[in-house]
Amino acid sequence: MTPLLESEEHKSLRAAVAAFAKAHPDTLNAEDNTRLWQEAAKLGYIGVNLPEAYGGGGAGIAELSLVLEEMGAAGNPLLMMIVSPAICGTVIARFGTEAQKQDWLPSLADGSRLMAFGITEPDAGSNSHRITTTARRDGTDWILTGRKVFVSGVDIADATLIVGRTEAVPTEAGRPGSLKPCLFIVPRDTEGFRRRPIDMELNAVEKQFELTLDDVRLPADALVGDEDAGLLQLFAGLNPERIMTAAFAIGMGRHALAKAVEYARERTVWKTPIGAHQAIAHPLAQAHIDLELARLMMQKAAHLYDTGDDTGAGEAANMAKYAAGEACVKAVDQAVHTLGGNGLTREFGLAPLITASRVARIAPVSREMILNYVSHQTLGLPKSY
Ligand SMILES: Cc1cc2nc3c(=O)[nH]c(=O)nc-3n(C[C@H](O)[C@H](O)[C@H](O)COP(=O)(O)OP(=O)(O)OC[C@H]3O[C@@H](n4cnc5c(N)ncnc54)[C@H](O)[C@@H]3O)c2cc1C
Repeated sequence: MTPLLESEEHKSLRAAVAAFAKAHPDTLNAEDNTRLWQEAAKLGYIGVNLPEAYGGGGAGIAELSLVLEEMGAAGNPLLMMIVSPAICGTVIARFGTEAQKQDWLPSLADGSRLMAFGITEPDAGSNSHRITTTARRDGTDWILTGRKVFVSGVDIADATLIVGRTEAVPTEAGRPGSLKPCLFIVPRDTEGFRRRPIDMELNAVEKQFELTLDDVRLPADALVGDEDAGLLQLFAGLNPERIMTAAFAIGMGRHALAKAVEYARERTVWKTPIGAHQAIAHPLAQAHIDLELARLMMQKAAHLYDTGDDTGAGEAANMAKYAAGEACVKAVDQAVHTLGGNGLTREFGLAPLITASRVARIAPVSREMILNYVSHQTLGLPKSY
């Protein structure tokens, strides 16, 4: 098998997930979504990337991204897959203690527990080197103080993996020094850990939250990995996040495109269905090509990641996220346009995707920050910031 093409196992996993996802059309309320999550977990889909020794499927991000793409293509994007098994599960599996693995991995895999992930801060935004959530020691305990914003699913997650720093090293300019991140598991109901839902214009069951950590006291074993390991262990989680966001975007793009194609085959206002007009057909064909190309890069990134090439995976994961986000936004835009007035009716369900598709362009890393990454890291161009 060449690494970029799917094996027979992949094809049958794809077919099985697609059939499962299609049998649960558009579950937009929280209860149905939870049920869907648990059923998918029971079938081994949610924990497919987690180690077999801890109840997972023993596969990788290639398989997990395939699952999310197919769920999204059927109109059921399980956003928390980006976070719970992909970031948190990966970081714990790679860097957690034996006790943390035993505690968390089986329940993340079987869907009985969820973990959210919080890195974004109001005053740092895309510049995560500026995060100020600080962890200090008090005896063997840790005390966390800071704020986070836009963190998804904190209400439904049993804990949030919070990215902090052990010290804010002042630079000459008085700003925090380069980030030495450390990761803490903060259970949902820990004293001093407060959340406020953000009023988002998004039609999704997963909500975003602003978080306040006000002297949150955590035991020593809340720290995941080494406090001195730095960016390496953070990127172990962020590369899967980018690959999974690509899968989320490709799935959504395919979902929108399929609806548009179905409509364009039938809808007739002159002699032929509107899909016969090249002005309608060609942009849909282009959207399909863009989504396929984005998937190819996603598969490359997943392959590099799963074979242990963290550095190579970083560049590919960024490019895949970029390509998929752009392909998704364009596919949704063209799909809405193809339906004319019906593109904006509730009945056809495409209008909410206009805002939802933008998420893939903004999070977890914006289009511009990926272009910056490629400009600097790949092309060696100088930085403006
Ligand atoms: C639906 C949703 C879910 C999310 N879920 C989570 C989550 O679960 N956990 C979490 O931690 N975060 C989450 N986020 C946050 C997300 O990762 C951030 O929104 C994202 O990283 C961008 O940060 P920001 O919003 O602060 O934008 P900013 O950093 O303020 O950027 C604003 C604009 O300026 C541009 N810009 C900034 N710097 C530069 C530069 N140097 N060059 C060129 N352009 C620049 C950006 O590209 C962007 O267009 C979520 C966001 C959304 C919308």
